[in-house]
Amino acid sequence: MERLILSGAALIDGTGSAPVKGRAVVVEGDRIVAVIPDGRHPAGPTVLDLEGLTLLPGLINCHVHFCLGGEPDPAKVLAEDPPATRVLKAALRARQTVEAGVTTVRDLGGIDGIALAIRDTTRAGLIPGPRVLAAARGICMTGGHGWQFGREADGPDEVRKAVREQLKAGADVIKIFATGGVMTPGVEPGSPQLTPEEVRAAIEEARKAGRRTAAHAQAEQGIAACVDAGIDSIEHGIFLTEPIAQKMAKAGIALVATLIAPEQIVVHGVKAGIPEFAVRKSEAVRGRHLESFHMAVRAGVPIAAGTDAGTPLNPHGSIVPELALMVKAGMTPLETIRAATATAARLVALGHEVGTIAPGLAADLVAVDGHPEERIEALADVRLVLTSGRIVVQRVAGAPR
Ligand SMILES: [Zn+2]
Repeated sequence: MERLILSGAALIDGTGSAPVKGRAVVVEGDRIVAVIPDGRHPAGPTVLDLEGLTLLPGLINCHVHFCLGGEPDPAKVLAEDPPATRVLKAALRARQTVEAGVTTVRDLGGIDGIALAIRDTTRAGLIPGPRVLAAARGICMTGGHGWQFGREADGPDEVRKAVREQLKAGADVIKIFATGGVMTPGVEPGSPQLTPEEVRAAIEEARKAGRRTAAHAQAEQGIAACVDAGIDSIEHGIFLTEPIAQKMAKAGIALVATLIAPEQIVVHGVKAGIPEFAVRKSEAVRGRHLESFHMAVRAGVPIAAGTDAGTPLNPHGSIVPELALMVKAGMTPLETIRAATATAARLVALGHEVGTIAPGLAADLVAVDGHPEERIEALADVRLVLTSGRIVVQRVAGAPR
C-alpha cells in the first residue's frame, strides 16, 4: 500500500490541545497509521516536508446548502436555474469547499436530491469534494420557514411520513424547521412553527433509523421543544435562554450558531441586492443572536462550527469567516478549531473516522501556513489537503502527487 509521511509541521490534533512539534504523521492508503517522532523515518520520495506549516485534521462545516450559491438572492437564482445548471453549480461548490480545507460537510436541506448526489459522486472519487452528510429535504410546516425547498408536513403522522421519505431517499441526517427564520418572506424568527408533538415524532422516526437530527430553531419555544425532545443540534439558536443553555450542556446538545450568515446580510444590506425582508429580520435579531452565543459558551454547550453556506453573500468554501467571528465573540482560536474538528465530528457521528489526528482514523488532513492558534485567519492559507489519503490540494514544494 502506498505510504506517505507528513514531516516537519506543528500538529494541532483538534482536541483543543496546543500545537506539538517534532511529530510526523504516517498515512497508508486512506488511513492515518501512526504518529511518530519526526526524523526517525527513512527519507525518500514518500516524505512530504511541511516545515514551517501547521497540520490539522480536515475541517468540518456542520451547516451548508449545496443547492444555494451565496448570491444576494440565492432562492431566486435557484428557482430560475434549469435543473442541470443547479447540479453543475453544486459540484463546483463541493470542489471549492474541499480546496479550502473543509473535508466534511453536513448539508442541511436542498432540492432535487442534489446533496445526496454530491455525496455519492465524491465518495466514489468521481468529482472532488468533501465527505457529505446530507439531509435531503428539510421538514417544515405548511407555509413555514423553508417551505420553498422543504417538505411541508402538518401533524405528527404526516411529519413521521415526511421523515420516512427522507430516509427512503437516503438521508444521513434529518433536518426540521422548528421555528420561523430570516430567509423566508412572511415568517418571523421569533415564532414557533412545528408543534412539540411534531418535533417529537420527527426525532423518534430518525432515531429508529439510527440517524441524527438537526433543528433550525430560532424562537425560544421552538428551541425548548427540540431540546426537550432530544435533538442532536440546534441551528442558529437566536433566542436561547439561560435554562435552555444549561439543559443543552447537560444533554450534550450542540449549538451550530452560523454567526456569519446574518452578519453577511447585515453588513451588505439591501444595496447589495439582498431581499429587504431578510435584511430587516437579520438586523432585528443580530444582537440577541450574539448574546445567545455567549450564553451557550459560558454554559458549556458543545459548540460546533457551521456557516449556513449558500445564504446571501455567504459563499461555499472556507469556514474561516465563521471561526473568526467566534474568536471575536470570545472563544480562543484553538477552541474554534475544536468546534470545526473534534466537536463537529462527534455531532455528525463521525468521531471514529475524522476530527482528530490519531492512528486508525481516515487521513483527512489540512496543512496551512502560519500559526492558526495565534491568528485564526492563518487557516485560510491552505497548502495541502488530503481526503481519505488522496492529495486534493498541494502547494508545497518537492513532494509527490
Ligand atoms: Zn441553513
